Amino acid sequence: MKQKIERIKSESFGKMKYAASERELYDIKVKCLGRNGSLTKILKSLKNMSPEKRKILGSLANQARRDVEETYQKRRKELSEQVDWEKERIDATLPGEKAEIGSLNPVSLVQREIEEIFSSMGFEIADGPEVETEWYNFDSLNVPPDHPARDMQDTFWLKSEKGKFVLRTHTSPVQVRYMQKNKPPFRIIVPGRVFRNEATDANHEHTFNQFEGLMVGLDISAANFRSTMKIFFEEFFQQKIEIRLRPSYFPFTEPSFEIDMNCLVCGGKGCPVCKYSGWIEIAGAGMVNQKVFEAAGYPKNKYQGFAFGGSIDRLAMMKYKIDDIRLFQSGDLRFITQF
Ligand SMILES: [Zn+2]
Repeated sequence: MKQKIERIKSESFGKMKYAASERELYDIKVKCLGRNGSLTKILKSLKNMSPEKRKILGSLANQARRDVEETYQKRRKELSEQVDWEKERIDATLPGEKAEIGSLNPVSLVQREIEEIFSSMGFEIADGPEVETEWYNFDSLNVPPDHPARDMQDTFWLKSEKGKFVLRTHTSPVQVRYMQKNKPPFRIIVPGRVFRNEATDANHEHTFNQFEGLMVGLDISAANFRSTMKIFFEEFFQQKIEIRLRPSYFPFTEPSFEIDMNCLVCGGKGCPVCKYSGWIEIAGAGMVNQKVFEAAGYPKNKYQGFAFGGSIDRLAMMKYKIDDIRLFQSGDLRFITQF
């Protein structure tokens, strides 16, 4: 019996040493220590033996069981660390998998182009937070407390114990933020994402992109403004553009204008895009209201400047002839990969 135990042990060791896989190794262990394993049978037979025999053989058999288990664990660790070179073999002659190359959203393309054109005219690019305080988004820009723009219907308000916050409804708060830190003369452009709490349709999105412009100095006039806009649009659309200014009203500019450009779809003859007027509204603008300068901490009536704000999405729609603003954020690859 003693020899039998020794034989089982050495046989298991020998087989385990040459086991080529964890599966094979496990089978060897089961043959020895499993329910009907050779060593298990011996352990079971101990109860029919005399006490002295049981004591000697029991101790031997149990030691053998521990040794086999230990050898099994060691070999298993070795096998798991072994690299299967056959599996790792690479056929260098196989054709590679073609990687999908991403493309930029047309809004990003247009934003970059806007930044480039204004940079070439000496404008600096400024940035500000998308979550704004009520003061920067409305008060500092001379928007009266009862103005409909502050309504829950138009603005996303954020609950906070620290005060009233909004998702900025325009890029104009950056005007005040920039002026608080910088002295004129300067010219900046502020491209950025803005949010409106409104129903969406082909022309309206709850999230879209604006570009804000601000030029301030001692003698900046509406004529500077008009020529800046004309140069920008002609550079952007790469053709001759007519622009016209219509009187309008914004709390943060005085006087205020709407900027129209001639419709590029019909060439001014009239079409559904321009509602048969030959003109398309492209931006809002005006001379900076002195109250905004005051809010930024500038002395009253010392500086003059103009500000304008347009929709990057709308420019992208005109440039690429896109008829639904919602496509920009749709995540639809059939749309995005065209650019
Ligand atoms: Zn038209």
